[in-house]
Amino acid sequence: MLDLVIEGATVIDGTGAAPRTADVGITEGHIREVGRVTSQARERIAAHGAWLTPGFVDLHTHYDGQASWDETFNPSIHHGVTTVVFGNCGVGFAPLAPGDKQRAVDGLISLMEGVEDIPGVALAEGVSFDWQSFPEYMNALERMPHSLDFLVQVPHDPLRMAVMGDRALAQQVATDADIADMRRLLREALEAGAAGFSTGRTDNHRTTAGLATPASEAAAAELAGIAQAFKGLDHGVVQLVSDFNLLHGPEGFDAEFDLVELLAKESGKSLSMTWLQRDPGGEQWRAIRSRTDAAVASGLPLWLQASPRGIGVILGLDTTFHPLMGFPAYIDVASMPLAERAAALRDPARKARLLKETSGRLAGDGSAIPPLVDLMLARIEMISGRMFPLVVKDSQDQSHVDYEPPVARSLLARARQRGCSALEAIYDFLAEGDGSNLIHFPIFNYNQGSLATAREMLDHPRVLYGLSDAGAHVGTICDASSSTFMLSHWARDRHEGRLVPEYAIEMLTRRNARHLGLHDRGEIAPGMRADFNLIDPLRIAPAIPHLVRDLPAGGKRLLQTSHGYLGTWVAGQPVIRDGHITRERPGQLVRLGRHPSRALQ
Ligand SMILES: [Zn+2]
Repeated sequence: MLDLVIEGATVIDGTGAAPRTADVGITEGHIREVGRVTSQARERIAAHGAWLTPGFVDLHTHYDGQASWDETFNPSIHHGVTTVVFGNCGVGFAPLAPGDKQRAVDGLISLMEGVEDIPGVALAEGVSFDWQSFPEYMNALERMPHSLDFLVQVPHDPLRMAVMGDRALAQQVATDADIADMRRLLREALEAGAAGFSTGRTDNHRTTAGLATPASEAAAAELAGIAQAFKGLDHGVVQLVSDFNLLHGPEGFDAEFDLVELLAKESGKSLSMTWLQRDPGGEQWRAIRSRTDAAVASGLPLWLQASPRGIGVILGLDTTFHPLMGFPAYIDVASMPLAERAAALRDPARKARLLKETSGRLAGDGSAIPPLVDLMLARIEMISGRMFPLVVKDSQDQSHVDYEPPVARSLLARARQRGCSALEAIYDFLAEGDGSNLIHFPIFNYNQGSLATAREMLDHPRVLYGLSDAGAHVGTICDASSSTFMLSHWARDRHEGRLVPEYAIEMLTRRNARHLGLHDRGEIAPGMRADFNLIDPLRIAPAIPHLVRDLPAGGKRLLQTSHGYLGTWVAGQPVIRDGHITRERPGQLVRLGRHPSRALQ
């Protein structure tokens, strides 16, 4: 007797094979039969016309804190994801430095709030911190119920802070003894089943005090010494974000890439790095590709994490920052409820006053807002060519999100049409209605005024679907929906250069699972875990993001659900039915290595 049979679905099995119609039989959390399934079953679901895909594997999330207060990993759960990985980019919440616990906790919260834009008060209230070591952190998370499976990586910054204390934040060079200690702590975590090691090397990541992140300048000896923790282990990956010394020219680039190669070499593990079109010239991403191709040809296991859309921020009157927030005429009304604030902004006298003012500085000492924001706001006329209304209406007057808008729809184009300044066009747009209008501002991957670069990235043989940053940047970004966007935009709606669905699905599933060394998921086949989605291919789409105050201590975040997920199952249990989160909590901490995950039978 089977637990469940899904009948007649269009199976897109994660291998990249063409879709085929089949039944899928499930029992005890695993797929038993694929094909014509005639066995008895407790439940049968007729799924003719729906896609049945493996559950998606999101390599790049920041649920380190949220995993403590949200059992469901919202919003990823709304986007077909059944396995998440956190501990990315070098930030996280374990291990804690010995000694003064409150001080250790405050240090990590300041780091996470600054780098990942997760309110510190929410973290302080929502995370229990009843651990010291990384294995204790894993045990604590494992005890809590969860909807989705998760893996944790050991982040470099907490490791450095635990070993070096104040010297870590002061960017001091690690001594041989420091390096040996970091290596020992990483090894201990890996032996407990941690999925890998992550590090962050970018000038744009700052603590709330405006300091560079502790490991951002870590030297070759430190990286190599830590990476040796992997020696002799048959599991684990390395994840890295770097800006590749963007501000320091081509020599800086190559020196930084040498360090990436060193990390891969010394660890002997697959290393994935963030791949963005970052610079105005737009050439760095090509340099990353060339060096990666050469390294792979010489046998190094490098991978590139790319996003299927522009990476940037969402701007609105209630998001973490927006173009008006530094103007005195705005600051006067900043504490009003949203709709009243919008109405106050529509007062012609206030508008005239603001348009004559200059904006105060937002970044700087004591601010988590990166200096990049001030640079951008100073050039609002230019960058408004890359700011777009996020929500548009189609010919049937239906509202939907548009992540690949034509340049002619930018706020700059709007200003030109009206004969006003870009700031005035932005002002009027944000002041409309109840004040909930949102601006889509793709900072990266949108130099061409289209997703042409993202398309090239998605074709690369070493590309991995990544960079959702789910759980992070909660007041400015909601890219957890980019898995859904892969299907709605790239596999269906785009007017040209579409991906075949089986390719998009393979990226979201088996490719990422294999990168992690998970062989029990990512495919629809007998013996695999029953992690899968049932999708209406005509309706699948990201919903419109909205601001909610559901974080601990009343913190606000952007939340984005979806349309078209008929159901999502984890280990054979439904965690989503018809777009709603169920009460099932089948998710587990997945420990690698010590408890090898294996395909059954
Ligand atoms: Zn990240």
